Amino acid sequence: MYIIMLGAQGTGKGTVAGLISKETNYPQISTGDIFRQNIKDKTELGIEADKYISQGNLVPDEITVPMVTNRLSDKDAENGAILDGFPRTIEQAQKLDEILAKGGKKVDLVINLTTPKEELIDRMITRRVCPKCKSTFNIKLCPPKVEGICDNCGEKLVQREDDSNPEAIQRRLEIYKEKTSPLVEHYKKQGVLRTETISISINRMANDVAKEVVEYIKNK
Ligand code: ADP
Ligand code: ZN
Repeated sequence: MYIIMLGAQGTGKGTVAGLISKETNYPQISTGDIFRQNIKDKTELGIEADKYISQGNLVPDEITVPMVTNRLSDKDAENGAILDGFPRTIEQAQKLDEILAKGGKKVDLVINLTTPKEELIDRMITRRVCPKCKSTFNIKLCPPKVEGICDNCGEKLVQREDDSNPEAIQRRLEIYKEKTSPLVEHYKKQGVLRTETISISINRMANDVAKEVVEYIKNK
């Protein structure tokens, strides 16, 4: 089963994707994480991608699409995957359809996460990530057991560069609205969209949504 996570920055895509991955064993494929790993390792791809990421812009398709195609060809993704961060444009959605169709596969489910805007920015600012195992925490909503340390692997948590830059936060939200949000209609038309709200105002957080989605997948 191929599942796409949609939703603006800070809605909890990565967290929900991680929880679903744990329960279903489908790998979580996060384009943002793959880019950040490449930046850390100073690979050619990382150096090129960083020019866009640090400004909050999308990395061009010439770099992103082959990277995703490659990752989807790995053995662990042959029966399904949870795509977290791809596609982000209609063009990328079309490319994904082509990649999957080659193996007789398709997009089976799109989980569209929504959160009130005032919560989003706050969540990005308070987000902390583990550079080693990629776990995500939030110093207010979901703090690690020991301050500044990853619960999973003991690594020191960091703030993403683009989360500490107000212009990059703004830019990412603008791009989401302009380029990514049309995907909601696109997948609604295909009949694969499932919208879920995550908000403190209704006491519904990532684990509540993940639990329901896992239940749904298992009964599908
Ligand atoms: P966010 O949800 O905050 O945008 P991600 O970790 O998903 O964070 O992505 C970080 C950055 O990586 C994005 O701002 C963008 O520059 C780049 N990126 C990730 N996925 C894509 C994609 N599908 N196409 C182009 N750029 C991408
Ligand atoms: Zn970790």
